[in-house]
Amino acid sequence: MAPDTTDEPTASAPVATYTDRLTRLAELAGVSGADVVLITPGPDLAYFIGHSIGSHERLTCLVVPAAGRPSLLVPTLERPGWSGSPAEELDVAIGTWTDGEDPYAALAELLPADARVLSVDYHMPAVHALNAQAIVPGSELTLAGATIAELRMRKGADEIGALAAAGAAIDRVQRRIGEWLRPGRTENEVAADIGAAIVAEGHARPDFVIVGSGPNGASPHHEASDRVIEPGDVVVIDIGGPMPSGYFSDCTRTYLVAGAAVPDRVREVYEVVRRAQAAGVAAVRPGVTAESIDAASRTVIESAGLGEYFITRTGHGIGLEVHEHPYLVSGNTITLEEGMAFSVEPGIYLPGEFGVRIEDIVVVGESGARLMNTAPTELTVVGSPSGPSTEGAE
Ligand code: ZN
Ligand code: ZN
Repeated sequence: MAPDTTDEPTASAPVATYTDRLTRLAELAGVSGADVVLITPGPDLAYFIGHSIGSHERLTCLVVPAAGRPSLLVPTLERPGWSGSPAEELDVAIGTWTDGEDPYAALAELLPADARVLSVDYHMPAVHALNAQAIVPGSELTLAGATIAELRMRKGADEIGALAAAGAAIDRVQRRIGEWLRPGRTENEVAADIGAAIVAEGHARPDFVIVGSGPNGASPHHEASDRVIEPGDVVVIDIGGPMPSGYFSDCTRTYLVAGAAVPDRVREVYEVVRRAQAAGVAAVRPGVTAESIDAASRTVIESAGLGEYFITRTGHGIGLEVHEHPYLVSGNTITLEEGMAFSVEPGIYLPGEFGVRIEDIVVVGESGARLMNTAPTELTVVGSPSGPSTEGAE
């Protein structure tokens, strides 16, 4: 994940969208018992005011009272970076503090006089959260993440469009994997080519490039190494990044490298994962719980006797962050609603042997899942002189 200190892309929704989000955040803050919500640079800031500039250790903070006008405090030296941003068009007072002044004293002046419950975003550095609390005697800190998630989980039409564009861009990269994944190359060499293609196909940058060949594929978040790809390797390719819109792609396909006989076990495990992933996608609709999608995928893998090797949750929400609410995991009883976006990515991880994962991003539609990824899920053989081919029947 990128640190909060990098510049976040400027989101490009109409000003009215940000105004609406700020209004709803203030309402929800009041309901949650917070007097004020404090948000530092990162995806939450981009979501609410259309722009985010990291300021390292210096305090940048959006102040959203449950009642009253929001304000934004930025370091004086960072103020030029905010000109022309949607933040300037909103009904948000922009204040500054200068090196040598106490930023927390400046923050205190922006808080409602009677504010005692300060609710901070998930990404706020502890140094800012604790210093904000210290400047308000008798105050209490709470996490605003769940409140903010209530808004960010439910994607609008423009956000779904941005996710669809991200999905199409990463699908184009997945369809080109055969250009780079060949015996004799290292995972790192393959990953470098994929990273360049992620940008060439329209992303702002690659955020992660997982090339898990052979036994490395059994570690779900293995990135890439100097391991040399061998004929017959099963290779997990999980890739994604933010588009210029700020919205993320995230797609996994598992490939078979040509040049060796395919053990029946590889084919069997692959098909179990493929059926599990399809079952998860098929279970998506408004009104069901997040954990029911996990159960739909998990049941397929458990029925095949491989449940102990499915060592992750089934999926995660996605938007301005690659991992956000809602999480598709046992125990999450949140009800899915139209417009929620998340991955469905079951896998089987066999230590010392190989891993298989298939991942698509879906959006909850009126009566079922809308797929943001359409790259084929059949087992694809790459690295043969005659080019990629798909195995097995539909
Ligand atoms: Zn994912
Ligand atoms: Zn992924």
